[in-house]
Amino acid sequence: MEYGIETRCLHLEGDDGKNRYGAVSFPIYQTATFAHRGVGESTGYDYTRLQNPTREQLERIVASMEKGTDALAFSSGMAAIGAVMELFRPGNHIIVDSDLYGGSVRLFRNISEKNGISITAVDCSRENISRSITEKTKAVYLETPTNPMMHVTDIRKLGKITKERGILLIVDNTFLSPYLQNPLELGADIVVHSGTKYLGGHNDTIAGFAVTNREEISRQLRYIIKTTGAGLSPFDSWLIMRGIQTLAVRMDRAQENAAGIVEWLLGQKRVTKVIYPGLKSHPGYEIMKRQSRGFGAMITFDVDHKEFAQYLLRNVKLIRFAESLGGTETLLTYPLTQTHADVPANELEKNGITDRTLRFSVGIENIKDLIGELEALFKAGEEKYHG
Ligand SMILES: *Cc1c(COP(=O)(O)O)cnc(C)c1O
Repeated sequence: MEYGIETRCLHLEGDDGKNRYGAVSFPIYQTATFAHRGVGESTGYDYTRLQNPTREQLERIVASMEKGTDALAFSSGMAAIGAVMELFRPGNHIIVDSDLYGGSVRLFRNISEKNGISITAVDCSRENISRSITEKTKAVYLETPTNPMMHVTDIRKLGKITKERGILLIVDNTFLSPYLQNPLELGADIVVHSGTKYLGGHNDTIAGFAVTNREEISRQLRYIIKTTGAGLSPFDSWLIMRGIQTLAVRMDRAQENAAGIVEWLLGQKRVTKVIYPGLKSHPGYEIMKRQSRGFGAMITFDVDHKEFAQYLLRNVKLIRFAESLGGTETLLTYPLTQTHADVPANELEKNGITDRTLRFSVGIENIKDLIGELEALFKAGEEKYHG
């Protein structure tokens, strides 16, 4: 029987560590090259750009967590997504979700289009993608829930359409992590991750992954990583491996804290909107219950005035005003000028991202301390910005 996901965060099936002198922590093979015994006698490793034992161990763990046959570790999430885009050629057409991580939008709009790949943005959670599929369409690319508006797409339903039409379904699973959602099992062909976020989990390392269960795609991606050279370094591979060990416990606590903060926000009169897929009123609630094992720890909310939003960002202390998500520390982000700074104004407006929109990545602190800080800030702000 397969190990549970909590166990798969730290142990590979069949790996007892005995061939590593019993070292419980996986060694960091800090080497650029590997010596050979003779011509045609490789140890299995030749040069670290191609493969390194530490990176390979991490890749096996991530593949096992995502139920893929292969995972590739990249130097960043964007490097992973960039490599996946190298699967396509000039003249190909890709459908992308209309609400995506800003960096992905920048990649598609400025690099992929320059390379002759045409891009159509569709709201995959609401519109029928079939109408946008042409003979040139090769893939659909999406996140669910999306960043930061938390639109939820039914992966199974979309996977049926992409299979029928013979195109790829690519899902960025960063927001939930493999602990909570496994898109390959729901019909996706490729899963990408920013390993910087929940997988690494400590806001200290940049990394990315592409995972697949299709042999041909894995072969192509291996060729791309070896040729373009964006593989994760041995030391950073080790840091991400260490981060993954606590993914399950971190995620459980972060979700518990998120539920507490959502409840608190709903009681604030200066908060005009709370978007969290774990709320029964959220349009994606039922889909998430079917396709995920939890609702995650990301919360988007609107306050009543831009000045109040900026006051909160200026005055948080325990909570940090910073870009990124998925770490142990609770972060508050201003999507307008941070994650979505490069998204055109009309797309921002369409997605409901305003100058009053804030986003929480809830961490693993004591919930009383988080709410205590918010409570004090809202109270002090009430006196200053009553409007
Ligand atoms: C951060 C992020 C990325 C990019 O990953 P990096 O590791 O920062 O390159 C891609 N997708 C999502 C959803 C992200 O949050």
